[in-house]
Amino acid sequence: VTDPNCIFCRIAAGEIPGDIVYQDNQVVAFRDIQPVAPTHVLVIPREHIASVSALNPSQAQLAGALLLAAGAIAEQEGLSEAGYRIVTNTGPAAGQTVFHLHLHILGGRQLGTMG
Ligand code: 5GP
Ligand code: ZN
Repeated sequence: VTDPNCIFCRIAAGEIPGDIVYQDNQVVAFRDIQPVAPTHVLVIPREHIASVSALNPSQAQLAGALLLAAGAIAEQEGLSEAGYRIVTNTGPAAGQTVFHLHLHILGGRQLGTMG
């Protein structure tokens, strides 16, 4: 299910360009347009889901696939040995700006403390 008004649905569909680093039947990953670390990749489900808060139990397999893909992409990006962070902003208090579920993979520098 895709939302024609959603920028990440449109990147996943190839309608607007993205620097795609990984894709499969369920998941697409591309570089953040405004990176905050030397490696900053966004990992999204092809299906339009607004956030973690909108996930439901029928999507458990997809949720797992998203996390597994993130780990594999981090490995592919050469981050596994030094380490990296996976973040998903959910709602206003976290500053979520794009309401299509995405995991940020951040790496390539020493990351500060959380929050
Ligand atoms: P959020 O603030 O919702 O957690 O993260 C949204 C992220 O999407 C931001 O880091 C922002 O830079 C990125 N972003 C927004 N629009 C685009 C776009 O059109 N292309 C790409 N590659 N990243 C985008
Ligand atoms: Zn979407």
